[in-house]
Amino acid sequence: MTLANVDRYDPDRVGDVGGRAVVLGGSVAGLCAARVLADGFEEVVVVERDPLPDAPVARDGAPQTSHPHALLTAGQAVLEDLFVGFGEELVRAGGLVVDTTRSFLEYQRGGFVAPGTERTPTYCATRPLFEHVVRRRLRERDAVRLMSPCRFVDYRTDDDGRAVTGVTVRDGDGPTESLAADLVVDATGRASRTPEWLDDAGYDAPPTDRVEIDLRYSSVRIDRPPGDRRLVSVPPDPPRTSGAALIPVEGDRWDVILAEMGAEGGPVDRAAVLEFAADLPVDLVGDLLATRSWVSDGVTRYPFPASLRRRYERLDRFPEGLVVTGDALASFNPVYGQGMSVAALDALVLHRALADGGIDRLGPRFFDGVAPVLDTPWQLAVGADRGFAATDDSPSATERLFERYFDRLLRRAHEDSAVAAAYQAVVGLERPPTALLRPSVLARVLLPVGGDGERTGPPRTAPPTSDQGSALADDEGALERDRPERPT
Ligand SMILES: Cc1cc2nc3c(=O)[nH]c(=O)nc-3n(C[C@H](O)[C@H](O)[C@H](O)COP(=O)(O)OP(=O)(O)OC[C@H]3O[C@@H](n4cnc5c(N)ncnc54)[C@H](O)[C@@H]3O)c2cc1C
Repeated sequence: MTLANVDRYDPDRVGDVGGRAVVLGGSVAGLCAARVLADGFEEVVVVERDPLPDAPVARDGAPQTSHPHALLTAGQAVLEDLFVGFGEELVRAGGLVVDTTRSFLEYQRGGFVAPGTERTPTYCATRPLFEHVVRRRLRERDAVRLMSPCRFVDYRTDDDGRAVTGVTVRDGDGPTESLAADLVVDATGRASRTPEWLDDAGYDAPPTDRVEIDLRYSSVRIDRPPGDRRLVSVPPDPPRTSGAALIPVEGDRWDVILAEMGAEGGPVDRAAVLEFAADLPVDLVGDLLATRSWVSDGVTRYPFPASLRRRYERLDRFPEGLVVTGDALASFNPVYGQGMSVAALDALVLHRALADGGIDRLGPRFFDGVAPVLDTPWQLAVGADRGFAATDDSPSATERLFERYFDRLLRRAHEDSAVAAAYQAVVGLERPPTALLRPSVLARVLLPVGGDGERTGPPRTAPPTSDQGSALADDEGALERDRPERPT
């Protein structure tokens, strides 16, 4: 399931469901969960171990916040629903709205994907700015209290261990204290301790799907001419294990990612970064890295060993009063930029589950509802990674067939804007992968390449020059002046 087939947010759907909810973790998943809980609980307490200043800052507790983050169409739409005016505030704080049909250069299977068919305003900002705006909007709600720096220590349960009744936390350097709660939401990220806790408490830990990818991320930030808003993606594409992306962000900068699958190292300094970029099939990334001033001091690195998915929906027994969301539930190869958007979609499912049955059996009902939502990003990420030697997952016969079709579709998307638009809607988690099998798309993909396919846009065989980028920027500036439209 994707944005197209989840129930959208409706503030009037949730009545009073409880006194206090505690959310563990104040990152994107925790903040989105807190937002939907605030409709039904008298008080929502977010417990975050990092200090949370009223400013866009990268945080030690979520070290990926130092790295570039793309926000997909689905995540953008849900954040606009949950925090009305999110885009306006992001732009006021320096973020950009980029029309990806014009300024997004995506290189796939040996060519640039054609421009899509409709204007697609896309928010671009650093991860700290995205998070800051969400946090600020959440803080405006009377029911919400952020406790930070405050560390979650343990769950508290009733006498027979059937229900979680609160948590023990340590506020700053103080002693531990208890917080009673009708509901606890674990949004502590990939390293969530809930599986081990369940095991210790006499429940089964969730079965976990783990797909090794051995990814290395190296990030730098470079200076950007104000009028040049090009967003560039050259993802790893087997057998090529290296990839890169440039995201235009606030402060006239580009956030640059260099990614390598199945790698021991990854570039660590300027010389190695330039050497790495020179091996990419697109010169643009290396040219910009070589000619623009570097804003970051050095290269920030992040190893990401595996995509993982905890299958809580398969458990027969689960305590009342507990839910797990965000990366704690599933965390995907970051190359596909899905995590924040999935966290936002998770919050929509939580909203729906609260509306349908309050807190009674909320955990199992939420896990059942969220599993089909996670299926799509999981299949997209794991499917795309299968061609790499480091990936230890083998496809079924149906998956192999779909992968062959997908390969053909990507090549077709070099010259067919309708196919490109269908592809972008799927990878943006806006529409399910089955949308790629609609007769209108199927026909265009299965036509012999170079045959009668109608070309619906100019071929994108080369990136626009930065001068063209400036011309586009005038147009895109208007997107920032107008309130961005909600993607549908
Ligand atoms: C290198 C990298 C790049 C990425 N790029 C993208 C991208 O381009 N686009 C995208 O959408 N996603 C991206 N992601 C994924 C994205 O960062 C996450 O999916 C997103 O932050 C949602 O995760 P989360 O809130 O569930 O967990 P996290 O962001 O990991 O946050 C968990 C929070 O819990 C807190 N916490 C943990 N333990 C405790 C405790 N005991 N007590 C109190 N607090 C605690 C942590 O401090 C942290 O704030 C990327 C991830 C990585 C690793």
